[in-house]
Amino acid sequence: SSDRVFNFAAGPATLPENVLLKAQSELYNWRGSGMSVMEMSHRGKEFLSIIQKAESDLRILLNISSDYAVLFLQGGATTQFAAIPLNLCQPDDTVDYIVTGSWSDKAYKEAARFSKPNVIWTGKSEKYTKIPSFDSLQQSPHAKYLHICANETIHGVEFKDYPKPNNPNTILIADMSSNFCSKPVDVSKFGLIYAGAQKNVGPSGVTIVIIRKDLIGNAQPITPIMLDYKIHAENNSLYNTPPCFGIYMCGLVFEDLLAQGGLVEVEKNNQKKAKILYDAIDVSNGFYRCPVDKSVRSLMNVPFTLEKSELEAEFIKEAAKEKMLQLKGHRSVGGMRASIYNAMPYAGVEKLVAFMKDFQARHG
Ligand code: PMP
Repeated sequence: SSDRVFNFAAGPATLPENVLLKAQSELYNWRGSGMSVMEMSHRGKEFLSIIQKAESDLRILLNISSDYAVLFLQGGATTQFAAIPLNLCQPDDTVDYIVTGSWSDKAYKEAARFSKPNVIWTGKSEKYTKIPSFDSLQQSPHAKYLHICANETIHGVEFKDYPKPNNPNTILIADMSSNFCSKPVDVSKFGLIYAGAQKNVGPSGVTIVIIRKDLIGNAQPITPIMLDYKIHAENNSLYNTPPCFGIYMCGLVFEDLLAQGGLVEVEKNNQKKAKILYDAIDVSNGFYRCPVDKSVRSLMNVPFTLEKSELEAEFIKEAAKEKMLQLKGHRSVGGMRASIYNAMPYAGVEKLVAFMKDFQARHG
């Protein structure tokens, strides 16, 4: 509606309007319970129905088999950087990391506190604009896991396919924080997938972990109880008080994604949106530039620079006047970044593209 802006933030990010309106309509008195979701006991039948529905809808969306546990946790994806090595290996175990941007680099650095991580590839010298060819990777023969960041939120680099560990005992792990539920994913290829909710599926405060059940139960002895997947799996994410309202919001988003026809349809929309934006950049004769290798450009986070970098502040200011907000690139890389998650309407990207053309006509 006209009092809403187009919010291109990387996260927390825009949420579907109909989900917000539904939450608003249920806020004061959730379905006749006489209270809001924020006030409910997390052990009462109302909230149990909410968390169970959220889990079962997510299972349908991603076609998650009963071999996997779905956990709704707290602490953000950043907490998982530690929880993963703590749960899946001993301090002397080797684990492999592919570093395609700032987030996988952070994950690797945290893992060094609890395991022996190897960076088997890094895109740092090419300013994180690429993903390696999988054949060339020198995987550690006995790595417990191979970790990737499926979509680098800051650099706009996205895996379009996934590497296969050489050793059948090595599991693949992906940080999907910024492309979770943006397209179908074959969960069975992974031992563990994790994502903070605040980009594609809800508010901040909820972290989703999808883990193969046979991997649960081997945490290092020093693992804090709140980081032990076994505790959370045994208690259906209700060991302690979970982020109830956030889980409720995620559930509304999952319902909405199913109503759109599921992730095949969602991906089609995301491809359409990304295409018009990348096309606009590519036909601008260098006025706008996206540094990322074309084959791995993210459908979710589109970084770009202006040839005349002195115009960047003006670009952001003028866009904001037209109700297009949060287009500034991450402070570590500069330039611009348009995050166009599931909930960014096509009309929002269309408006941005029209603005970019007009801006170029005036300043080119
Ligand atoms: N991984 C990725 C890919 C991210 O984009 C982010 C947040 N921007 C994180 C991890 C860290 O997430 P959180 O802030 O939820 O800890």
